[in-house]
Amino acid sequence: MKIAILSRKKSYYSTARLVEAAEQRGHQALVIDTPRAYMNIASHRPEIHYSGKALTGFDAVIPRIGASITFYGAAVLRQFEIMGVYPLNESVAISRSRDKLRSLQLLARKGIGLPVTGFAHSPDDIQDLITMVGGAPMVIKLLEGTQGIGVVLAETPKAAESVIEAFLGLQVNILVQEYIKEAGGADIRCFVIGDKVVASMKRQAVAGEFRSNLHRGGTASVIKITPEERSTAVRAANIMGLNVAGVDILRSNHGPVVMEVNSSPGLEGIEAATGKDIASLVIEFIERNARPNRTRTKGRG
Ligand code: ADP
Ligand code: MG
Repeated sequence: MKIAILSRKKSYYSTARLVEAAEQRGHQALVIDTPRAYMNIASHRPEIHYSGKALTGFDAVIPRIGASITFYGAAVLRQFEIMGVYPLNESVAISRSRDKLRSLQLLARKGIGLPVTGFAHSPDDIQDLITMVGGAPMVIKLLEGTQGIGVVLAETPKAAESVIEAFLGLQVNILVQEYIKEAGGADIRCFVIGDKVVASMKRQAVAGEFRSNLHRGGTASVIKITPEERSTAVRAANIMGLNVAGVDILRSNHGPVVMEVNSSPGLEGIEAATGKDIASLVIEFIERNARPNRTRTKGRG
């Protein structure tokens, strides 16, 4: 097969591993720096050009689209879909998963366990918003944050009020959430491929910190998950329409709750923690599923 990988850099761990796994399995892999691709969207002959040449003959495309280029990245991926190339994750599913509010609404509608969560922009009654999610201690998040930045634990109602007021002044979307104290500063990353959790790791925050992000000094280790956690992760990925996803779960007193579903989960942490060759599992999934014109949505809806 000829596989395109949409990624900013060949040298990124995940990208390099996917290229390596594809080549080991006898495929050809080309890394495309997404913003540099340009397209002719004419209906009779849709094309994508890169470095002066038309990209042709691809069987599959692996999107590794960073949050900062979601909009253009989704357009390039959609163009591949229109040309009949099989996408590992569809453009519609990626756009959907990048919108946290939309994602959590979809998951909630389908009955997936979530922390009690509220969304707000310019709430006209901050007290009521705080009460709505069960009061302090509570977590307040900037909707646009990543790597734990913009995630605050407000221990008291006064602190919660101050943080919400501060965010209000910035005119940003915020999410207020029940604090899952019993998770003990740990979360579980489930790596889903198709209808299976192929690997899972526990990320534990450093002492005195509740955010387990590896970027915040958290440490990863292998963990055995329960059947309920397994099915929750697979269902969450499925509801988002993602074939490959990183589903982050907290262990709460009321069962597993999903925090987020990532459409371009990194391979470095999970391969290191579990010793599993996840890159090859991704390529094997493509081998089993790639067919021309198999995109369900082709950018619709
Ligand atoms: P980001 O997208 O920036 O990673 P997250 O929503 O994943 O933001 O939050 C960062 C970390 O903070 C999580 O990995 C988790 O350890 C912790 N955390 C987030 N929300 C909660 C919560 N409601 N209860 C307990 N811990 C939480
Ligand atoms: Mg996170």
